[in-house]
Amino acid sequence: MAEKFKLSIISPDRVFTEGEAEFLEFTSTEGELGIYAQHIPLTTILEPCVMKIHNEGEVKKAAILGGFVEILKDKITVLAEDAQWPDDIDVARAKAAKKRAEDRLTAKQEGTDMLRAEAALKRAIARINTVD
Ligand code: ATP
Repeated sequence: MAEKFKLSIISPDRVFTEGEAEFLEFTSTEGELGIYAQHIPLTTILEPCVMKIHNEGEVKKAAILGGFVEILKDKITVLAEDAQWPDDIDVARAKAAKKRAEDRLTAKQEGTDMLRAEAALKRAIARINTVD
């Protein structure tokens, strides 16, 4: 059995989850990361992504909609801009948000905030992939 580390995922309004894990997967601005206990200390910026929490043969998925991750040897703290479990995600809403963002990015109309549309697209994709 892999060594465990403590895991806290905190969103602006609550402690989303707190416990132990053996392996954590997520997407940082520098790419996909997979972290075990005893990783060198590191702080990184999160992309909206599916976070996969591995523990005792189970994998729990959560949509983490951006934020920061602080990695210490025996503890990982995620400060999430927003976080959702699959059961709390309305897939139809996420698909509609994805379509809206894609249409905005394709139309490139003057006055469209492209960064905002890109961020909305990433959030929608993260939500959809968390439920899949
Ligand atoms: P939308 O355009 O559908 O509002 P969004 O990405 O702009 O999507 P956010 O600003 O990221 O929405 O989210 C605001 C809040 O709305 C979230 O904290 C979450 O509670 C809720 N929310 C957004 N999308 C969904 C979804 N697909 N299913 C359930 N709740 C959602």
